Amino acid sequence: MGEKQMRILIAEDDLTSRTALAGILKRAGYDVISTVNGAEAWNELQKPDAPKLAILDWMMPEMDGAEVVRLVRAQPSERPAYLIMLTGMDKKTDIVSGLSIGANDYLSKPFDSGELRARIEVGRRMLEMQDALMESHETVLYQASHDSLTGMWNRRAILERLNEEISRMNRSGDSLTIGICDIDHFKLVNDSYGHQTGDEVLCELVRILHECLRKYDVAGRIGGEEFLLITPMNDSSDVTAVYERLCATVAENSFRTRSGGLSITVSIGVVKGRPGNVADEMLAMADTALYRAKAEGRNRLAYSILPPAGTTAVIHS
Ligand code: GH3
Ligand code: MG
Ligand code: MG
Ligand code: MG
Repeated sequence: MGEKQMRILIAEDDLTSRTALAGILKRAGYDVISTVNGAEAWNELQKPDAPKLAILDWMMPEMDGAEVVRLVRAQPSERPAYLIMLTGMDKKTDIVSGLSIGANDYLSKPFDSGELRARIEVGRRMLEMQDALMESHETVLYQASHDSLTGMWNRRAILERLNEEISRMNRSGDSLTIGICDIDHFKLVNDSYGHQTGDEVLCELVRILHECLRKYDVAGRIGGEEFLLITPMNDSSDVTAVYERLCATVAENSFRTRSGGLSITVSIGVVKGRPGNVADEMLAMADTALYRAKAEGRNRLAYSILPPAGTTAVIHS
């Protein structure tokens, strides 16, 4: 919300009152949208970039102010509008019912211009607080699901995705491939060049990772230098191709860091799950495959196919 140029919608059928209202608001620096009945007001309020503050006369032809309030409140919104009702001086019952159906405030006619401006300011502060709250809520949501160093999905978020993909696999009967990718001898990078250089390597690896993935694949950081990749495959696709390409791309890349260009490699444990498998067994199997890739010399992948529960796994290298 800009400093003064907040837009305010007014709905008032009485020409004199409407002109006075618009005049006061414009002089106070607001951008005013005037309407002459509730139907017009409701139409404006439904537009995507509708004003967030509205002053609605109670008695209007076509649709009265109360009906507009009811319609606005019936529509779920993350940023509810601030609604001020205009009522005749002696209509106490209108005030009560106006507030009970969801108006934020009311003004009695004839209104005092100072009071009008003050009440608009209250509304503006409410809307600003609401925006600030929403922003911090979004920040919290983002932080809860993203890794702060690399910006990619964090452990919790990627494991949630894994469970979703497994449910999907179970519904569709397709298979699902996952890979755990671990940097080889990463401790050496930290020990030789320092932690900050190590962090830069992690960030560049994440960039490469996303470059190698296809658009329906997802990746997240499940440990310090370990990443989980979820790659839905149909049964005819070359299951390990994505992982082979990732391994090769990392090995060929010169990682630009404050300590100069560095070469690193990764090992990947890949497992293909089938309907009936659960996340824990897929992860354990991928971990076992990863250890095998390490033991066989690193800078490579090892691939396993998970059998239906209760039988023995098929191991490939
Ligand atoms: P291996 O080939 O067997 O995987 O050897 P490794 O050295 O990569 O494995 P190890 O598990 O011994 O060491 C992992 C290292 O990753 C240790 C830790 O200091 C480093 N590490 C974990 N998280 C971070 C991080 O956020 N930043 C940096 N710079 N290093 C990290
Ligand atoms: Mg009226
Ligand atoms: Mg590790
Ligand atoms: Mg490692």
